[in-house]
Amino acid sequence: MTSNWQESAFETRAIHVGQDPDPTTGAVIPPIYQTSTYVQEAVGVHKGYEYSRTDNPTRTALHEVMAALEGGAWALAYASGLAATQNLAYLLNPGDHVLLSDDTYGGTYRLFAKVIGRYGIDFSLADLSDLDAVRAALRPNTRFVWVETPTNPYLKIVDIRAIAGIIVDHPARLVVDNTFASPYLQQPLSLGADYVLHSTTKYLGGHSDVVGGVVVGNDPDAYETLKFHQNAAGAVPGPFDCWLTLRGIKTLAVRMDRHSANARAVAEFLHRHEFVDRVFYPGLPDHLGHDIAQRQMRDFSGMVSFTVRGDFEVAAEVAKSTKVFQLAESLGGVESLIEHPGQMTHASVAGTGAEVEDTLIRLSVGIENVTDLVDDLEQALAAVIPAAALR
Ligand SMILES: *Cc1c(COP(=O)(O)O)cnc(C)c1O
Repeated sequence: MTSNWQESAFETRAIHVGQDPDPTTGAVIPPIYQTSTYVQEAVGVHKGYEYSRTDNPTRTALHEVMAALEGGAWALAYASGLAATQNLAYLLNPGDHVLLSDDTYGGTYRLFAKVIGRYGIDFSLADLSDLDAVRAALRPNTRFVWVETPTNPYLKIVDIRAIAGIIVDHPARLVVDNTFASPYLQQPLSLGADYVLHSTTKYLGGHSDVVGGVVVGNDPDAYETLKFHQNAAGAVPGPFDCWLTLRGIKTLAVRMDRHSANARAVAEFLHRHEFVDRVFYPGLPDHLGHDIAQRQMRDFSGMVSFTVRGDFEVAAEVAKSTKVFQLAESLGGVESLIEHPGQMTHASVAGTGAEVEDTLIRLSVGIENVTDLVDDLEQALAAVIPAAALR
């Protein structure tokens, strides 16, 4: 029996949309359709699948559940978040302009600066959390305003509804990279965005074991163009990658609740700590974007950044002195990660004006026991900072 899952609650949709039991065997979990091609009964007579670059049933399941979770009419999946970004850029033409956030994800910046920019598409940066800056930066040829919220690594909050309002009479479309929030915490289409993009590598996959991306939207013409380019350019995810992502999505809601609760406790601990200078977490009442975040998000997610009292070396030393938090790039998995953006995720923005502070540390707070996480940060700070103060 197939229910109308579309009308059910988020957690139920995450588990069931596009994932009814397999009709031929009764398998509860949709199979990994590890096939490149499909038999045809006669030339052109088939069950909707011809070749797996074009379509694959495991990928179809991922498309359906992602559309349902973001409240969009359609979704398209890609081999990575950046492949999804590249595909969205196929909606642009030479002479168009893209307005990016000044602390946009480094790989997105690099793609626009070094790849897409070579094809006659211009871009500029602005602090999109400043609405006057957004108004000033819009050009007649702006076709995308590209929002991330919370941003990386400062966790700034951008008011999605306000930006949608600013461009309502402008031809620009609003793209929201929703990777840091996930659809459980924030649904940009309902706030006026035109397209939502994810690196499914992060919270949606959730287990640091797969790289992928997805774009969700409502506009049927954009769907036709993007679907054409998904097939024509071919950066599609394999069936096993789609299956891993589907498996991750089933537990998204419970994971995000725990990520958010743990991150709040870690942020509060750091906020009180004498060796910590500033803490960036939208769930803290003194965060600049706290009120907007409270309006547009269900909870504040698992990313926390902070600056230590000290210098570049002290921050690097703290980042390698934790035992539960592992020193690694990326985010959104069940395990906690720590990194030094100046040397790691944000090394590529050196010289662009979007540099991060030397003393900044970024945490992806996982779903381990929260006392273990706080104790780990406590011992790392205690081990490094007094020693550094004596130098
Ligand atoms: C990781 C990430 C991307 C890029 O995704 P990949 O899957 O690594 O290609 C884009 N945006 C944000 C916010 C990210 O964190």
